[in-house]
Amino acid sequence: MILRLIALKARAKPLVSLLALCLISAAAFACEQNASSDITTPTSASRIADTSAGTDAGPGSLSGTTREVGVVTTLYPIEYFARRIGGDRVTVVNLVPPGVEAHDFEPSAGDIRAITNAELVLYNGTGFEPWMGRALEAADAKARAIEVSASIADLEGGEDEHVEEKVGHEEEAEEHSGLDPHVWLDPMKAAEQAELVREALKQLSPFDAEAYDAATAQLLGELDALHREFLAGLADCRLDHFVSTHRAFAYLAKRYGLEQLSISGLSPEAEQTPTELARLTDQLKDLGVKHLLVEPNISAKQAETMAREIGAAILPLHPLESLTPDEVQRGESYFTIMRANLASLRTALDCK
Ligand SMILES: [Zn+2]
Repeated sequence: MILRLIALKARAKPLVSLLALCLISAAAFACEQNASSDITTPTSASRIADTSAGTDAGPGSLSGTTREVGVVTTLYPIEYFARRIGGDRVTVVNLVPPGVEAHDFEPSAGDIRAITNAELVLYNGTGFEPWMGRALEAADAKARAIEVSASIADLEGGEDEHVEEKVGHEEEAEEHSGLDPHVWLDPMKAAEQAELVREALKQLSPFDAEAYDAATAQLLGELDALHREFLAGLADCRLDHFVSTHRAFAYLAKRYGLEQLSISGLSPEAEQTPTELARLTDQLKDLGVKHLLVEPNISAKQAETMAREIGAAILPLHPLESLTPDEVQRGESYFTIMRANLASLRTALDCK
């Protein structure tokens, strides 16, 4: 409730313009408050309206002191990197609430307001947020937005013909660039994303550059250690094929010389046909696969049916697109979940 009161103050934008924005964006987005995300999550979109409200210095201005920067993110790893690098100099609001499947997310009017008021919008891109083009336009925020996978994604996404049906907008389907957006699941590519986050923050607040550099060096060291753990942990395994729920792990698979099979396509809603699933089931039997690796935030029914059919066990494998409320509660992070992913892969691949 306190957060809602803060949002109502809306010092950055007069209420009239908020209403106008709401009307303008009504065509593209439902003009209803996303009440659950505003109130129940600490990273509420309404906070950003307050954070940036009292800031006189615009992007890139040299005020001579350190200052707080308001950042909006969409994807959990980018939120995590921004928090780690920015520390208490940065207020990060992640638009996708815990427990929401990130590929399915659609922004509310409150989310568009958060983007309007943010000094920096960090999104993954490469088609991961097909709604972002419209949102940036509605929020007049294109100049303040950075696509954190743009120079990093280099694997073909493959055919995902169901995406166009799902999004139902030609321009959104076009934003599915044909490349696979899931770069953050390779710790080395995640490190490149972290460096882009650092550069964006340094541009906004050059007086904090030293602090951002120090925090990034620490983070990159941890990512390198994680990469070495994956290298060592997956070096000697009986199997080299693993099965994920949706096809999120191609960069990870490539980095560590593995082969990914998946129950659905590049997003969880890109379901395979019964014929394709029957073919996959036969392939898993031939390969002697004894584990299916299942992600949270979506139904595991299809995986459970397939597991029964081939006599396989189910283990977790997390795409890290958004956390569950329980994971937030337990204080899980990019690193704890990636290490749990490694443990599942080691079991599934029968590694020494
Ligand atoms: Zn995904």
